Order: sequence, then C-alpha cells, then structure tokens
Amino acid sequence: MCHYFCANNNEMGKRNKKTADEADVILIGAGIMSATLGTLINELHPSASIEIFERLDEVAAESSDAWNNAGTGHSALCELNYTPQRPDGSVDISKAIKIAEAFEVSKEFWSYLVANKLIEHPESFIRSIPHMSFVFGADNVTFLRRRYETMRDHHLFHGMEYTEDHEVLKQWIPLIMDGRKPDEMLAATKIDIGTDVNFGALTRALFLHLTQQSGVKLKLAHEVRDIERATDGRWKVTVKNLTTDKKRTVTAKFVFIGAGGGSLLLLEKSGIPEAKGFGGFPVSGQWLKCTNPDVIARHRAKVYGKAAVGSPPMSVPHLDTRVIDGKTALLFGPYAGFSTKFLKNGSWLDLPASIKLNNIRPMLAAGMDNIPLTKYLINQVRQSPEDRLEALRQYVPTARKEDWELEVAGQRVQVIKKDEKHGGVLEFGTEVVSSADGSIAALLGASPGASTSVSIMIDLLARCFPERAKTAQYLSKLREMVPSFGRSIAADEQLCRETRERSAALLKLEGTLESV
Ligand SMILES: Cc1cc2nc3c(=O)[nH]c(=O)nc-3n(C[C@H](O)[C@H](O)[C@H](O)COP(=O)(O)OP(=O)(O)OC[C@H]3O[C@@H](n4cnc5c(N)ncnc54)[C@H](O)[C@@H]3O)c2cc1C
Repeated sequence: MCHYFCANNNEMGKRNKKTADEADVILIGAGIMSATLGTLINELHPSASIEIFERLDEVAAESSDAWNNAGTGHSALCELNYTPQRPDGSVDISKAIKIAEAFEVSKEFWSYLVANKLIEHPESFIRSIPHMSFVFGADNVTFLRRRYETMRDHHLFHGMEYTEDHEVLKQWIPLIMDGRKPDEMLAATKIDIGTDVNFGALTRALFLHLTQQSGVKLKLAHEVRDIERATDGRWKVTVKNLTTDKKRTVTAKFVFIGAGGGSLLLLEKSGIPEAKGFGGFPVSGQWLKCTNPDVIARHRAKVYGKAAVGSPPMSVPHLDTRVIDGKTALLFGPYAGFSTKFLKNGSWLDLPASIKLNNIRPMLAAGMDNIPLTKYLINQVRQSPEDRLEALRQYVPTARKEDWELEVAGQRVQVIKKDEKHGGVLEFGTEVVSSADGSIAALLGASPGASTSVSIMIDLLARCFPERAKTAQYLSKLREMVPSFGRSIAADEQLCRETRERSAALLKLEGTLESV
C-alpha cells in the first residue's frame, strides 16, 4: 500500500484533490500530540490534507491544558524518579540523559517555529525557572549527594549545584525553609536552565497556525466513534457531530489516535493485531493551588521531592511556580486518586469498556503485581483536607489551609501490556502502538509526555513511513527544524552548547547560557 507519505509521492507543494469525505491524514484529538504531529506533517509535506477531530468544543482542554498538568519541561534536572538508585547504592542516570536530550529536541523544534513565525511570543508558553530536587532524612540526603556527584560531570547537567547548608537553602527556597528546625537533615540541588511550559498555550498556538493552512480542517465537538479498515486498506473513521447528532464517515490513508486517555478504546476499535494485550489503568490527580499572593511571591522554582516508599513515580510531590496567562501561580501536588474514567471529561464506563478477552490476563496480572499501588491510591482517595495539608507542610511548614484551594488535574491512563514472565506489567512511560504497514498509530501512556512530544512524533513518522523518512528531501527539512537531528546532544558537548544557545536566544530563555 502506498501512503501519502511514501517515497514516490512527488506532489510536494501541490494540494491533493480529495472529496469531502476523504483526507490524507486524520488526527484524532486536539491535544499537544496531534498538534505536534500535524505541524510536523504540514512542514514536511505541505500538500497533505489533514482533518482533525476533537470531541470537546475547544482544543487542549484535557491533559494538555495548563492546570491539568504540572507544566514541567521534563528534562530530568529535578525529577528523582528518572535517576533510580542501583542495589549497590550507585545512581543510574541513563534515563535522565535520554529525557534531557529529548527535551532539547523539543526546544529546537519550538525555536524553529518561532524563528519562522509559525508561532509567536515564546514567553506565552515557555519560561526559565530553576529546577530543584529537595530531600530530607539521612538516606535521601546520601542518595541526592550521589546523584549530584554522578550528574555534575555530564555536560547535559553542567551548572547543577548541591547544598546541605541551611543558610544557602534559605536563599534558594525561603518558603520551604520557613519554620524548619536548625538540626533537620536537608539537601537540595539547583540548576537554572529548567523551564515551566504552558502546554495548553503551545497547543493552541500550533492549532492556530495549522488551521490557517488551506488543507487542514479542525472539527470541534466531533467525537470519533469507530475506526475500521476499508477493503482498499485505508481507514474509515466514523465521527459524530455532537452539535447536530449527525454521523459521517471519513476515509484516510493514515490515522493517528492522539486521544490521550481515550486512545486505548479507539485503538481497540481498529482491530489491529498489534493492539492486542494492551490495557489501561486510570490514575486521577489533584493539586493544591495557592491563593495568597504573598505566599506565591516567596517561591520561585520547581522543587521536586522524593516519592514515598511504595508509591508510584507520578506521585512525586512538587512545589511549583507556574506562569499561566502571564500570571504567576503556585501549585503543590499531585495527590493521586482512582477513577474509572479515562479522560477528565470521560465516562465512568471507560475502564470496564476497555476490558476485552485479549487484555484481561495482562490486566489481572498487573493488578496482582501492583497491590501496593492500589493500596496507595485507595489511601490517597480517602485523604481528608487535613491529610492534604499535612503532606503540604512537609514542603511548606508554615502553610495555612485558607491559603490553598483544591484543583482537579488531568487524568492519566497508565499502560498495561503483555509480558511473557508476569502475564502483564504496568508501565509508567508512553508507548506508540502502530500497525505493521504503518497506516495507523496510537499514543498510549502519559509520562514524560508533552515535554518529549517532538521526539515521540519524529520517531512515529520514521516508524510509519520508513521509506519516506530516508529521502534526502525529508531529512533536509527535518534538519532545518531540528538541527541536531541524526547527531547526539548527549554525546557531543559542543553540539549541546550550540543547541542550547540557539534555543535560549529564540525562546527568550534565561539561565541557559551561564550553565552550559
Ligand atoms: C496530572 C498530570 C501532570 C502532568 N505533568 C506533566 C508535566 O509536568 N510535564 C509534561 O511534559 N507532561 C506532563 N503530563 C503529561 C501531559 O499532560 C500529556 O503527556 C499530554 O498532555 C498528552 O497530550 P495528548 O495530546 O496525548 O492528550 P490530551 O491533551 O489529553 O488530548 C487528547 C484529546 O483527545 C480528545 N479525544 C478523546 N477521545 C476522543 C474521541 N473519541 N474523538 C475525538 N476526540 C477525542 C480529548 O478530548 C482531548 O482533547 C502530566 C499529565 C497529568 C495528567
């Protein structure tokens, strides 16, 4: 089968003629993933017609919205779950290196978009903010010191500082140090090249640009109900217009299921054998949001702690400065919870509807292996406002209940997949599932998610369109958008420096140049 993106399609620049019910590409869902993939495809192949369906009446209203995620530009500068401790006490930083590199790729692509005026005002979606890790207790202090000693020698983490000194900590994180006992064993690392990203604003900017292109159509309040193979190998996507209740079928050569938590249910409908054995485990979240401007003004950092023993990586507590729509805010959390919904605006029936004969065994096996996680979530759901305040006071000892209000975060659906040994395993990362012929792909899972969306989508294109992705034309355009493409920022210090300098200048970031 020849996709619109196959190597012998020479119609670059000439819009393909399509009937009203045909498109080259269908993107399901209007979050950061579809926005990124749509923009990449439009740049690489401007003649492709793209139709995007979103069930809500606005874009970026699920996980990609600013308050539904933490807005951390995940680059492994502060997240301790990306640097696990080995049994011998040493610290494994290999995952941190991969995530830091992937975030540089995202910044390169966003810089290209700004430089070429595809999107404007980088300060509306990305800002510099120090990233810090903060721990208490002897074991955690030893871990953080070792982590720092391992990371400081790698150029990706140059500029990271470490201290156990309360006087220095008072300068770095005054709000966290207020009311602490002088003999508390504390430690922190700080690095100034961290970022706060408003993925909602970025997604909206990307869709604004995309919808100005002649071959791109965005249909809001349109819910995808079914996906099936046509006899010619293309995909028939059935969509319900939620305003008129009318259904329509659109046919496309390539479909991306970027429906966030809703992706699993749609992937199952496609019937592709590669989807068999996948399940989903929903985890909901809440934040405490500070309402007192004086408290907000006393903190300027993203400070990540260590997850409690037995708790999942997504429950790492953090106290974060956010800048949303030009306003500085402060959030603490997340508090995890359990709900059977796969989307914040989803249905209680999502989880039961996702259980099929082919995934029941992996789901049960993953459930049996993760009883501590289930217990943890049950405890989190049962938390009272006082329990939440107590958790906050570990980070802000002087916190007062009246200064904080509860905010519901986005819904995550963790991936469950088949496993030879255990029957099924629960994963905390993201997973692209695609058909053997590359004509349909879905993104499952949540983390590190939005921050690494550009690398995920570049990899997805290479996987779904392997021939096209080898052509000189494709490679040259990709290098224009991501100049480090094909080289390793992690292995090449000079390349890392140049890349960071360019991105910092275009995205108007501070802190980067001093640290490289
Ligand atoms: C609590 C929390 C904190 C997080 N913190 C961070 C962070 O700090 N940094 C980071 O990088 N990432 C973070 N993430 C992850 C990040 O938010 C996600 O990776 C990212 O937003 C996923 O984007 P998406 O486009 O796949 O999904 P979404 O943004 O959820 O978009 C999917 C869209 O598909 C639509 N849809 C669903 N079903 C259908 C259907 N049948 N038909 C049509 N449309 C449909 C939905 O309405 C939605 O608009 C966090 C996530 C959560 C939940």
